[in-house]
Amino acid sequence: MTDLQANIDRLNGHLNRFRTDGVSNLINGETRAAVSGAVFETASPVDESRICSVARGNAADIDMAAQAASAAFPAWRDLPGTERKKILHRIADLIVERADEIALCECWDTGQALRFMSKAALRGAENFRFFADRAPTARDGQMLPSATLMNVTTRVPIGPVGVITPWNTPFMLSTWKIAPALAAGCTVVHKPAEFSPVTARILAEIAQEAGLPPGVWNLVNGLGEEAGKALTEHPDIKAIAFVGESRTGSMIMKQGADTLKRVHFELGGKNPVIVFDDADLDRALDAAIFMIYSLNGERCTSSSRLLVQDTIADEFEARLVERVNNIRVGHPLDPATEIGPLIHKTHFDKVTSYFEAARENGATIAAGGVRHGDTGWFVRPTLFTDATNDMTIAQEEIFGPVLTSIRFSTEEEALQMANDVPYGLTGYVWTNDLSRAMRCTEQLEAGMIWVNSENVRHLPTPFGGVKASGIGRDGGDWSFEFYMEQKHIGFATRAHRIPRLGA
Ligand code: NAD
Repeated sequence: MTDLQANIDRLNGHLNRFRTDGVSNLINGETRAAVSGAVFETASPVDESRICSVARGNAADIDMAAQAASAAFPAWRDLPGTERKKILHRIADLIVERADEIALCECWDTGQALRFMSKAALRGAENFRFFADRAPTARDGQMLPSATLMNVTTRVPIGPVGVITPWNTPFMLSTWKIAPALAAGCTVVHKPAEFSPVTARILAEIAQEAGLPPGVWNLVNGLGEEAGKALTEHPDIKAIAFVGESRTGSMIMKQGADTLKRVHFELGGKNPVIVFDDADLDRALDAAIFMIYSLNGERCTSSSRLLVQDTIADEFEARLVERVNNIRVGHPLDPATEIGPLIHKTHFDKVTSYFEAARENGATIAAGGVRHGDTGWFVRPTLFTDATNDMTIAQEEIFGPVLTSIRFSTEEEALQMANDVPYGLTGYVWTNDLSRAMRCTEQLEAGMIWVNSENVRHLPTPFGGVKASGIGRDGGDWSFEFYMEQKHIGFATRAHRIPRLGA
């Protein structure tokens, strides 16, 4: 039996129960169909075959989940951090135990290649361990004595929170949001993306099995404009952690305005990788390719704009074309596959529309630019050259395995183009000139910048974007800043003079 067939067999073993029973909601520790009884169907991007039916929750389900999260909040908030830590570590242990199942289901649901999803499942466990270890100190504050008062600060969890996640690496991103919320002492209502609901259900099951009390973590499936919207409008939900498109973020802000929602947004990107002629070009090439073609290019931090110095551009682009044409597109469960299918037809149509846009813009399609096969939503990894920064292929987030190469001659020009987009998530700089690297990192408008490196995530560091790429930071203590409120308490240390009115 081939590795691919063995993986398909194991996947079928895991998926059969979802095919039969569907993916239901989990509210107050109970498995539930949608209140309305409605469901929607999901299909695999690999061959368009049906995966399962999914509960189509709406405002009624969200209300039930928000009430459960509110009722569970005081006890979870008051549980010692050391106890929350133990439960979150148990969740991490169970993720590791079920990592194979999670990775296989994620591949089938999203089209992502197994080589990346196996790591993403384990990264989910790491997210839980990282925040579990910080749960006991999440409330810590400062002592800020003044002449007459001992002022202290402490942090308290904000309350029940809503978590809304997208379809790209949905498992990892869900853990990235939910783990710090639980560690902080918040309760959660999670609305996963409608296109990739399976692993969110597995994750909620794991949480229950790990001993999380009923109501602390509630899962409501449904469409964005129904369940998602209701979650952002619910008065009991104090904050919304959202990962998705910039325009959805803007809608959520409007929807949450009446209830004054605190929001945390991880949104889109059109991230530059700037390659100067003094760089280590072999490493720059590896990194540029990895950052746009891994994860099917459906990655917010992807280096989707290559800004390459004109002195090395011919050679660099020629080497790129050769490598891009060698990238293995195929079945996501084949261990050799590097790129799987795009998530669904609408997204496939969007990505492939940029092939036409490139032609209309006057760019050259130097590699790819076509569908791969005739079943499923596969595209060939694509490289546009002869592009300028004002073209739509250089300005808009394509969110697929598509790289736009633009030439520059001076550092000033590179920086001007790098910043001349609506987004500001990541930037990548390749140079061996230290002063230039410092200047670039200072001037790039981005939340995260790597010099002579691809994106290497270190969990204690802040993750997030500027401009249309987001609001707020995750990671380290920054996650707690979002899920918790600062509280000031002043104790009088001496009988200071109190202004006397009416005396
Ligand atoms: P999307 O915005 O279409 O959907 C994301 C989630 O929002 C889904 O669960 C959806 O159901 C929900 N939603 C949609 N409309 C809603 C509404 N009116 N109210 C409440 N919820 C609503 O995004 P997507 O297509 O699933 O994901 C791709 C996008 O996510 C890309 O733009 C990508 O860059 C971005 N992303 C950003 C990061 C980051 O860290 N910055 C990480 C991953 C993905």
